[in-house]
Amino acid sequence: MSDPDCIFCKIVAGQIPAKKVHEDEELLVFHDIHPWAPVHVLVIPKLHVATLYDVGPEHEALLGRMLALAPRLMRQLGVEDGFRTVVNTGRNGGQEVFHLHMHVLGGPRPWARG
Ligand code: AMP
Ligand code: ZN
Repeated sequence: MSDPDCIFCKIVAGQIPAKKVHEDEELLVFHDIHPWAPVHVLVIPKLHVATLYDVGPEHEALLGRMLALAPRLMRQLGVEDGFRTVVNTGRNGGQEVFHLHMHVLGGPRPWARG
């Protein structure tokens, strides 16, 4: 359910601070500490799931909620003109934190990364 060595589990548990923008029973959203876009938040499940490879049928509703939350958050954060959603998966996918997360990136381009 949670991994004591996982940095995002520690954020969920309140052991590491984060600039939260949304929290509900299943999901947490906070600002990325090294943003690559004017608005850059991470949507994570509170449940520890390491990567998209570890997702099963029992996670389908959760994944749907993560994606459906993105446009609501972007509007709340003043992003009305488009955004990108990115899920890096595994080493070759550029994943650095092994707790499933969706980057949501918005604001005027060009961006430094992504
Ligand atoms: P990824 O390469 O997809 O695994 O992205 C991990 C993201 O987590 C990077 O964009 C990091 O800047 C971000 N990150 C790492 N530690 C923290 C933290 N403590 N608070 C907020 N964002 C973080
Ligand atoms: Zn975790």
